[in-house]
Amino acid sequence: MLAHLDPTARVVVVLVGLLAVYVLSGFIWPYTACPTCDGGKHRSPTGKNWRSCGKCGGSGKKVRLISRILGRGD
Ligand SMILES: [Zn+2]
Repeated sequence: MLAHLDPTARVVVVLVGLLAVYVLSGFIWPYTACPTCDGGKHRSPTGKNWRSCGKCGGSGKKVRLISRILGRGD
């Protein structure tokens, strides 16, 4: 299928394909784990106490960039 394309065009086709997969995944799975906390909680060293994460509001989830662009998520 790609054999008749020159190498540059082949690279473009592959990149567009990867972009399509990335965009589709942003539609299906709009959230990723918050990178700064453990499930929305910042735990004390003992693990018994915690405060809510200010970045994700304690939800522990983060809307992915592509999903935000697509208007998905919160
Ligand atoms: Zn967080």
